[in-house]
Amino acid sequence: MPLKKQPRTTSLRIGTGDDIHRLARGRRFVLGGVEISFEKGPVGHSDGDALAHAICDALLGAAALGDMGQHFPDSSPRWRNASSLGFLRHVRKLLDTAGYTVLNIDATVGLERPKLAPHVPRMRKKLAAALGIEPRQVSVKAKTAEGLGPVGLGQAIRAGAIALIELRA
Ligand code: MG
Repeated sequence: MPLKKQPRTTSLRIGTGDDIHRLARGRRFVLGGVEISFEKGPVGHSDGDALAHAICDALLGAAALGDMGQHFPDSSPRWRNASSLGFLRHVRKLLDTAGYTVLNIDATVGLERPKLAPHVPRMRKKLAAALGIEPRQVSVKAKTAEGLGPVGLGQAIRAGAIALIELRA
């Protein structure tokens, strides 16, 4: 027997994003839109802001609007050395046009050094401003990898994010 179409009972949608960047000497270290003084920085076509990228993908995923590679191809000179806060603003516009409001973001950054805790309040502020929401709607957590894998060896920075959005009535 064919399955009946389920009635839509909610307008909430959820999405996840994940990103990793190699760390190299001589690169600016930008995370969550905040520049932090450190001996290495993420390698990337843009500023390599893994946290902003994971959040972009989580939001695009929640709205089923594709992924970052599709909207910001690294073959495009438009996005070379771009600030990833600009990516977030662009994604916010895409979601807004599609009728979605962002409810909250929760993100985790995997990084061995430097310590991120002192910078987290500024990151939440910057990310929230780019998305047109309040800092209390953006959670940023940080953890080390206990010396394991590329993150643990200080060779990479990784970020994961989850986003909840709602279709406006
Ligand atoms: Mg990235």
